[in-house]
Amino acid sequence: MFYGYILTDGVSLNFVFSRLPRPTHYDLYAPDFSRHSIQGHFRIAGLDPGRRDIVTTAGGVGDGIYPTRQVSTAEYRSISGVTKRQQHLENLKNTTMITELDGNIVPFSTFESNLPTLKTTSPEVLQESIRVRLSTLNQSLDFYDIRQSRNRIKAFQGQQRAIATTTNIALNGGKKFRHDRPASKRNQKLRKNRKAKRRRLRQQRQQAIKDKYDLVVEQLVVVNRQIKLMDDALLNLARLNSLISVESVDLGILHANSSQAQRTWTETLRQQLTDQKIELQASYLAEVGGSKMKQWKKNRHGSNDTTATALPLVAFGAGMISTNHNHIHGYPVGSTNLIRNHMLQRQRRALCIVGHTNEYLTSQICSLCESRMPNAVIDGQQVYALKSCPTCHRTINRDKNASSNMYKIMATSVDGLGRPLSLSRTM
Ligand SMILES: [Zn+2]
Repeated sequence: MFYGYILTDGVSLNFVFSRLPRPTHYDLYAPDFSRHSIQGHFRIAGLDPGRRDIVTTAGGVGDGIYPTRQVSTAEYRSISGVTKRQQHLENLKNTTMITELDGNIVPFSTFESNLPTLKTTSPEVLQESIRVRLSTLNQSLDFYDIRQSRNRIKAFQGQQRAIATTTNIALNGGKKFRHDRPASKRNQKLRKNRKAKRRRLRQQRQQAIKDKYDLVVEQLVVVNRQIKLMDDALLNLARLNSLISVESVDLGILHANSSQAQRTWTETLRQQLTDQKIELQASYLAEVGGSKMKQWKKNRHGSNDTTATALPLVAFGAGMISTNHNHIHGYPVGSTNLIRNHMLQRQRRALCIVGHTNEYLTSQICSLCESRMPNAVIDGQQVYALKSCPTCHRTINRDKNASSNMYKIMATSVDGLGRPLSLSRTM
């Protein structure tokens, strides 16, 4: 590592180290691929590195459902944990009190914002800035101690994680699009709570039916007893009628008739109660039997196909190379180059192939009907992120369309047909 010499100008010392050369890689382009080298061994994915989304991948083109996968800038930041880390640091700065040189006790954030700027062309101002910084070095070092170093290494790990995760999502759907993935801890908890709530409600419903059932059965017992009493009374009345004299027969029969009517009415009531009982039994059984909902799960759009074992051949949009951290149309370009470098690393480990593809016109031309699309207009306002096709009358996400076109270009190149005419400069 040590190159063998030390340079000095009399004041400072320079130890000269050498660095290992970077492993060479070849940038492959879409025309480099041919059918017999690709067929059966690779599956093509079009990838549009992003403006608003870091990457958008399309696994095909067509008017049906084709899988596209996206990682937004917000998602990328969330994976790397940078937002939370920034918030935490901000909190820490606001709550850490330090003593300034003149004895005032202020939050560290105030102290830091009061430091004179280093971004200046004037040597005097710069000198003064450095002097102030050096004189308050102790305060700064008290805050930026070993904890901050730990946080910095965590941040670095987070960035690496974000890059790898994004690449996974782009190549095969990753965890994000795996529908059999285990739920997160939070989701597990929520699911448990929902389950408990459902059980509670179900028990309440069952209890209500049971109460009603008990009431009906009780009434039924009473009615049955009444019917029995009336039967006995009718029997007695008939006996009596046969015993008493002819003059009073009318009276006796009258009694019997009214009793008969009463009995019929009670009989009807019993029938009603019995029906109700059977109905309640049925609904109770239905409740106990559980949900009638269909037990199937919809396939997630863009789920990774677990049967596909072929290596991904990524048609990587080459327009954004080395334009990292610039702003286009007000959106940060995201970490496209980091993703590309990571993919190239994977290519060296034979895990994928990156085929650079010219982005020319890919977001302008409809991936289905090849007509040129203007920006979509919503409420009289042009929307940059959406395109509307005048021929097939649909509004599509600009990046999704671009990645579909990227797929198309790679697919036709592999078939030996070259770039589609509609996406070529000759048009
Ligand atoms: Zn169209």
